[in-house]
Amino acid sequence: MNMQKIRNFCIIAHIDHGKSTLADRLLQFTNTVTEREMQNQLLDSMDLERERGITIKSHAIQMKFPYKGEEYTLNLIDTPGHVDFSYEVSRSIAACEGALLIVDASQGIEAQTISNLYLAIGHDLEIIPVLNKIDLPGAQPEVVAEEVMEMIGCSREDIILASGKEGIGIEDILNAVVNRVPAPKGDEEAPLQAMIFDSVYNPFRGVEVLFRIFNGTINKGDKIKFVNTGKEYEADEIGVLGFQQKPQKQLQAGNVGYLISGIKVAKEVKVGDTITHVKRPCSATVQGFENVKPMVFAGIYPVETTDFEELRASMEKLQLNDASLVWEPETSAALGFGFRCGFLGMLHMEIIQERLEREFDMTVITTVPSVQFRALMNDDNYKLVNAPSDMPDPNLFKHIEEPYVKAAIITAADYVGPVIQLCMDKRGQIKNQVYLTSDRVELTFDMPLVEIVFDFFDKLKTISRGYASLDYELIDFKQSHMVRLDVMLNGEPVDALSAIVHRDKAYEWGKRLCEKLKELVPRQMFEIAIQAAIGTKVIARETVKALRKNVLAKCYGGDISRKRKLLDKQKKGKKRMRQVGNVEVPQEAFMAVLKLD
Ligand code: GDP
Ligand code: MG
Repeated sequence: MNMQKIRNFCIIAHIDHGKSTLADRLLQFTNTVTEREMQNQLLDSMDLERERGITIKSHAIQMKFPYKGEEYTLNLIDTPGHVDFSYEVSRSIAACEGALLIVDASQGIEAQTISNLYLAIGHDLEIIPVLNKIDLPGAQPEVVAEEVMEMIGCSREDIILASGKEGIGIEDILNAVVNRVPAPKGDEEAPLQAMIFDSVYNPFRGVEVLFRIFNGTINKGDKIKFVNTGKEYEADEIGVLGFQQKPQKQLQAGNVGYLISGIKVAKEVKVGDTITHVKRPCSATVQGFENVKPMVFAGIYPVETTDFEELRASMEKLQLNDASLVWEPETSAALGFGFRCGFLGMLHMEIIQERLEREFDMTVITTVPSVQFRALMNDDNYKLVNAPSDMPDPNLFKHIEEPYVKAAIITAADYVGPVIQLCMDKRGQIKNQVYLTSDRVELTFDMPLVEIVFDFFDKLKTISRGYASLDYELIDFKQSHMVRLDVMLNGEPVDALSAIVHRDKAYEWGKRLCEKLKELVPRQMFEIAIQAAIGTKVIARETVKALRKNVLAKCYGGDISRKRKLLDKQKKGKKRMRQVGNVEVPQEAFMAVLKLD
């Protein structure tokens, strides 16, 4: 294929700014899919994704577009829209020469858009700004256009006005992709050098690897190698992605395609890895490969201890198609056998929990999330602390270090005060404040990651009435006075409720946690003491009074069906209860720390 006729591009957009809708329109316009196939939002195929409006897994799709009598091949590479998946975004961007920057004309630029925009500019992508949703009565295309022009230094004529909903501006966008995005460069004769930017798990065919060829040519049946994992395969099937897979005999430099080679486990396919030939390998790998590391850790336990093996089987299946999920068995005195899991972020954690429930019908308890701390031990070695139970004895280490992020927040000027206050409460330090327009401000903070994990985003949305967006990246570890706070129910420590918190916040934390637990732990036939302690020092206490009346008493003499209903209701309520010592603890209690005020 003539490289001059190929265009590789992606879409950068904040969640809900209309990326999926617009992408669907492009596919429709180019007849890549029929009206009927269009019924479902194509690029977001997993149920969960559709509901959340987030493209969790990036895919690629090829369109044919006739322009001035010539047929062009347009490869649209979809990117995930959430900060948890920013490494995947960076690899998708690295596979393209251009990007559509989609901005909701009624909202303006958001933090996630900016960080991805910088990534795209950093990779020298041609940026095509598109103001979407111009059909909305609240759209302010001229105000937002000013913002965009200032942001990327383009002129007003470069900006396309569009509405995915009404189908406005679609052809302009396709024309701009052909005219403005540079054709790929590369040498078809050179040794094969392709980059994996995504993979899709298929239980029947094995893992489908999505790649972009920078140099060389790949043929069906070639012996190939993934450079970073060192594994070798045969290219059983290669092809391009339309609405369905279209197998090909050969793919050349500049193009985007998929590969099937009998890989059964998602972990074998590392996004960012280089594919080359075994016989004639390329001399350099594609730059930018990283092993993604989990940022957030939490325990996952079956509600019924007897379901442990089933949970293990489910986790193994999940891991087959989610390479970024890591876990190892863990034992809790309170919860029994379970797993310590590492996630890319809080959203990823919620997704895993939901998938366990929906796809595997498991009822699980998730414990207090944590980040990875490290302790500088007396012997000057670091010990990693992924869970409160990993926290070494204070006599054995010199200090604890915690991960810090650089957090960028964009908000309306009216909310700058409350946002700064919130970030300072979260131990953040303000680093920068920039007015994007007279009404919109970008604030930058250095903040401990653990503070973002705990309920930060919800609070940010609340105090800004929804008008704030957040993006963050890990920068460093910093020395911090972290302590382990334990919780006891009737004197029994509940390890699953322990958390690692900053010393200055421990007292407040303990007090609120005890209060919250008091609301959540149901009254029982006896009194329950709830205590929070650091080491042996109790810092807070609450009491759950004993239950006086038999709940069934009020049904006495009543009809039996009503009584049964009540019993059933109680049973359902029990679904997520765990017996800790002699106390029944509901699932919400284990997550109570996330909602302390
Ligand atoms: P994504 O999260 O960026 O993929 O956004 P979606 O394509 O899922 O759209 C988010 C919401 O905005 C949905 O409710 C869409 O129906 C709506 N939407 C998308 N494009 C337009 C548009 O051009 N005009 C209007 N009024 N609504 C739109
Ligand atoms: Mg979407």
